Amino acid sequence: MGATSSGISCTFCRIIKGNLPSWKVFEDDRTVAFLDINPLSKGHTLVVPKTHVSRVQEEEDSKYLFSAVRLLVGKVQAAMRAPACNVGINNGAESGQEVPYLHVHIIPRFNGDGGGSVLSVISKRPKISKGEMEKINRAIRETVGSKG
Ligand code: AMP
Repeated sequence: MGATSSGISCTFCRIIKGNLPSWKVFEDDRTVAFLDINPLSKGHTLVVPKTHVSRVQEEEDSKYLFSAVRLLVGKVQAAMRAPACNVGINNGAESGQEVPYLHVHIIPRFNGDGGGSVLSVISKRPKISKGEMEKINRAIRETVGSKG
């Protein structure tokens, strides 16, 4: 399966097509992984589907992407001798996504590296009453169509 491009100006489409150099670490029919050009740690890797979508909810066959992530998490950690890693997606501009092409960050973590948890993306947590939690719960369940 070849790459589906959303345009010649898309950085990750160009990488997938081989029109822009990258440090590729993995490729199969549907997925490519390459080193982040501005890494947060040694081995910081981006895993992307070959078909351009912007956000995770647009990715219909996400099992391929996440099975590559699962494989690469272990391999990247082993290669970097990293005891842990953060795995994350900035999903939409408001979440901090700069490249509008779905990508999963694998960020190796080391003792004393000074980094935080993915829970540090927002520093001030909202206060939510029990009643509001119930409303939120209902709204999401209704949208999902949850039964039971
Ligand atoms: P995000 O904020 O989740 O959209 O992150 C985009 C990531 O893509 C950043 O960590 C960038 O350093 C990385 N990036 C941008 N351009 C390239 C490139 N040409 N090759 C590799 N990584 C890139």
